[in-house]
Amino acid sequence: MSVSPRVALTTLAPASLSVRTHCPYCAFQCGILMGEDLGGGRPRVTGDPNFPVNNGQLCIKGWTSATLLEHPRRVTTPQLRDERGEWREATWNEAFDFVAGKMVAIRDQFGASANGVFGSGALTNEKVYLLGKFARVALRTANIDYNGRFCMSSAAAAQNRAFGIDRGLPFPIADIAGAEVVMLVGSNIADTLPPLAQWFDRQKSVGGRLIVADPRRTPTARLADLFLQLTPGADLTLANGLLFVAIEEELTDDHYIAARTTGFDAVKRTVLEYHPARVERLTGISESQLRQTARWLAMARSSMILTGRGTEQQSKGVDSVHAWINLMLALGKVGKPNSGFGTLTGQGNGQGGREHGQKADQLPGYRLIEVDADREAVAKVWGVDPTSLPRKGKSAVELLGALGNEVRGLFVMGSNVAVAAPNLSRIEERLKSLDLLVVCDAFHNETSAHAHVFLPVFQWAEEDGTMTNLEGRVIRRRTVARPLSGPLSDLEILRELADRLGCGEKFAFRDAEAVFDEFRHVTAGATADYSGISYAKIEASDGVFWPCPAEEHPGTPRLFAERFHHSDGRARFFAVEHRPAGEEPDAEYPLFFTTGRYKEHYNSGAQTRMVEKLQLAKPLPRLEIHPRLARRHRIATGSRVTVESRRGKVEFTAEVTPDIRPDTLFAPFHWGGRGAANLLTSSHLDPTSRMPEFKLAAVRIVGVRA
Ligand code: SF4
Repeated sequence: MSVSPRVALTTLAPASLSVRTHCPYCAFQCGILMGEDLGGGRPRVTGDPNFPVNNGQLCIKGWTSATLLEHPRRVTTPQLRDERGEWREATWNEAFDFVAGKMVAIRDQFGASANGVFGSGALTNEKVYLLGKFARVALRTANIDYNGRFCMSSAAAAQNRAFGIDRGLPFPIADIAGAEVVMLVGSNIADTLPPLAQWFDRQKSVGGRLIVADPRRTPTARLADLFLQLTPGADLTLANGLLFVAIEEELTDDHYIAARTTGFDAVKRTVLEYHPARVERLTGISESQLRQTARWLAMARSSMILTGRGTEQQSKGVDSVHAWINLMLALGKVGKPNSGFGTLTGQGNGQGGREHGQKADQLPGYRLIEVDADREAVAKVWGVDPTSLPRKGKSAVELLGALGNEVRGLFVMGSNVAVAAPNLSRIEERLKSLDLLVVCDAFHNETSAHAHVFLPVFQWAEEDGTMTNLEGRVIRRRTVARPLSGPLSDLEILRELADRLGCGEKFAFRDAEAVFDEFRHVTAGATADYSGISYAKIEASDGVFWPCPAEEHPGTPRLFAERFHHSDGRARFFAVEHRPAGEEPDAEYPLFFTTGRYKEHYNSGAQTRMVEKLQLAKPLPRLEIHPRLARRHRIATGSRVTVESRRGKVEFTAEVTPDIRPDTLFAPFHWGGRGAANLLTSSHLDPTSRMPEFKLAAVRIVGVRA
């Protein structure tokens, strides 16, 4: 394996800390300033005080983000497996010829859709767009999906149905500061988005109230004026119960409901079954807390609900989000100043990543692959016959489930599926059964351990592109430094492979900006319309909010003030009912198991586990367990505890804490191998979004070691 002592970079910044760009990790996309270390010629990072989202603040991941650029474990040469299964270095031409040859062989033998493609919510908009085009035009496969399916698909589906558009936050993040009441549901921002806390500090400093609903008393919950420690999976029921109280106490905004929405009567009939006693039994939230929450949200001049993965990563995730939206529509808050509903997107480009064509059912601009007009609009720009575009393919979990059977090859860009997917033991077997597994990344990870080809790529500070942050603000990522030789851009890799697959002329872009110019043209007239956004326009401001349908259009920071995006301008209520999770605790597996994140690590941990400071701070996952449950099993902090579900077993180090419910265990999901929390999680999917149920599995404790 090619491992250099330290990757030499050419530093392009003319002076220290002079390049404005953005953190590589989460969807907050903090503005950072980059340049070289004084005297050392090494990349350095500080928060950008002039970027109006983070105002100079960064979390520990942002502060250490430059570490990986020169990391000694970085791979700088393409690698192929030799006959003994060991990695050997290859030239780029050899690697491209091998991959393209195998893709053609798979296509010839098993059909075009036997080549699968797996993308990422960390890719720039340009890469997302080109990867989708590569799948549909160069490979002609229907089977492309991405890891955002594990993250944002439930909130996206519900927002699309309710509002006719899915933009995580329909208002700038700064609006939080002016909200009288904010309710956070299933979101631990103090750990996952620390610089976001500044907006809550401002909100509270002028008398605002914070309500947090979560099965764990997280660091965020400790900041709350009212904490609702609900039963895992009971979010939908809680929201319906709040709407019951609002109706009973005549807190709904009937004028707003009549003027701006449709479907309330069916919802009203449904929620009248959610009287507080029933809701308390199902959620664990008392009637007094329920009434207090409903009154605060309804009576405040401005109030908003923000959801996170806790409420969304369930087999009823879409319905749960509908329940929260129903509540805020009924209270007449959506589209009003400092008010409404939003979801806090997770991955760096979790927003752009779900808009521009790397989903199995989607084309760029949020166009749908099964809608003829959308197919024609995209095919026209691509210069292909619309009938040549594949139809809807398999969603992420189904795609991974088909590996080795219908799908014989997988091309992975920027994702670590061997850690991020649910029910992991089966994913590993399937990766091993492939005829071709290609991983494009800067570092080896648990997925590349099974790959046939590894293609080393540029990292975030080494190439240009755009990202769309959690507010829907399109921002610029800029080239700061670049390895002297070795890796290539993902865009170049797609171009070279497309060339070998016989359609190089459709991928002959000179740079990322040229890709962006084609891509924004494709989105003209679509829901996620970027056609009026250009690199120059982003440059001239602190980003541009989509939709932005014309060069002279200023962008759209706030949605829904006058109308929703359905053709009649009205929002839709959806009646949703309580139902059990895909797997509830029972006599055999009596405990809930739920997962989440540490502030030191990001997603599968593929990057952050290699940053020494982060790894030293949080070297291993710890299992949170309530003292009462711990006593029953003779567990102390530091004990080794084996947890088992119907799918696998994992041994964790215990952390006894009263912050977790006595019926629930929690562990973070940043680790692979035998410590992987996702060995326990199930592949139950939401029927609409195909989101796996990461937040809820039934488990038991089967072993304890001192
Ligand atoms: Fe900001 Fe997120 Fe990066 Fe932390 S990880 S610095 S919150 S963008």
